[in-house]
Amino acid sequence: MRPHIPHRRHKTATAAALASAFLAVSSCATNPATGAHQIALVSEAQEKQMGQQADQEVAASVGLYDDADLQAYVQRIGDALAERSERPSLPWTFRLVDDPAVNAFALPGGYVYVTRGLMTHLTSEAELAAVMGHEIGHITARHTVSMISKAQLANVGLMLGMILRPELQNYGNVAEAGLSVLFLKYSRDAERQADDLGLRYVSRGGYDVRPMTDVFTTLERVSATEKKGRVPGWLSTHPDPGDRRTRIGAAIAALGTAPGTLGTDRTAYLRRLDGMEFGEDPREGFFAENVFYHPEMRFEFVFPPGWKTSNQKQAVGAVSPNEDAALAITLARRESPEVASREFFSQGGIQQGNAWRGDINGLPAVAHSFAAQTQQGVLRGLAAFVSHQGKVFQILGYAPSSRWGRYQGVMSEALNSFERLTDRRYLDVQPKKLSIVTPSRDMTLREFADRYPSTVPLETLAIINEVSLDGTLPGGRPAKRVVGGQLPDESPRASSRR
Ligand SMILES: [Zn+2]
Repeated sequence: MRPHIPHRRHKTATAAALASAFLAVSSCATNPATGAHQIALVSEAQEKQMGQQADQEVAASVGLYDDADLQAYVQRIGDALAERSERPSLPWTFRLVDDPAVNAFALPGGYVYVTRGLMTHLTSEAELAAVMGHEIGHITARHTVSMISKAQLANVGLMLGMILRPELQNYGNVAEAGLSVLFLKYSRDAERQADDLGLRYVSRGGYDVRPMTDVFTTLERVSATEKKGRVPGWLSTHPDPGDRRTRIGAAIAALGTAPGTLGTDRTAYLRRLDGMEFGEDPREGFFAENVFYHPEMRFEFVFPPGWKTSNQKQAVGAVSPNEDAALAITLARRESPEVASREFFSQGGIQQGNAWRGDINGLPAVAHSFAAQTQQGVLRGLAAFVSHQGKVFQILGYAPSSRWGRYQGVMSEALNSFERLTDRRYLDVQPKKLSIVTPSRDMTLREFADRYPSTVPLETLAIINEVSLDGTLPGGRPAKRVVGGQLPDESPRASSRR
């Protein structure tokens, strides 16, 4: 959950645009990258429009990494590859998104995204170019277009939140048409094709293509340890890494020994990573057991123990173990709890029940019980609107009417746990950051970790430096360590309230 949440004006625009694009008259066309004849459901103008709108969804729901130099760097690498592709005139846009998951993805019309998680895990520009070349391949071969049509048909609801409109939808936005594309897999054939096209662009771009196989190795190692971000891991959407590494390795060997003139650009790349955020950003909120702390917005909240929690950009929430009840906190963007509450109940299909006005742990609040008519039946719930630090927080707890009896008490207790965060240890947490150091002599990874301590496990240090646990880092060559970002040792509230 982030402090400054952009207003979402295009919520339904994307779905509508996609629907009209999908209904467009089919025509036969030649695929620009592959030369194959195929049925084109979508014209290039429509493709660009789809991409442009979905791009706004990505910016609003995932967020861009706040560093103009790095954004320009990513755009520069992408431009150099894309201008050597079969579709150089698309409005190519390359963005670095603010997500700890290790991933890259593409949208129709020339939009490519790499996560900061990906950048911090790679060790050279050639590796980054390899991933970007692959994603460019998905666009030039028009895989993204057929994917987004599929995304429309796939009904990937995140939570019960999807079934109410529009306030509760905040929680399900990630699964909306524009972004559900991120959760779908391309076919195996499409992946092979993107690998081949990527290899073509990266080699035309003058890079050494051999590091492409290292990227597969890193992605494999990451997927074994990775936690879920807002964006799924690359390997969850890109199957069969082993096969693909072997295949691309053979293709590279067939190119002969002609490494590009730009080489790998390892040192310059690593210098750019110095100071970059690594892993999840606790300032956007973090959990200690079932207690949620938000340092930026200065509140804490106790979710029911055992519930599955999730901290998204626009909401933090949890679902019951049986997935038959949900709790979500969002920003209401209204000046007072009363106004936010009135607006909530002005929505069609929502009936207001008992009202209660007063304070929650000293913060002005309005709360109501409610019933909502949805396509799936009647939902019952509690809605609280709490004023804190000049913002109004909306807390909703709800379940199907038939189950409400068993959750009412739990929900009421949760709503009443909203509280100011005052503990300095929580308020002052900072994200972990990469720091680039150059060991003066050869060091085993363990020696390196002793000499330059990191706040991540040795296993993580091994992955991000592309060495094995028993490996050696050569002297005189820059290497990564991770500093800062420690969370408080224990949560007194979590242990006392369990
Ligand atoms: Zn792919």
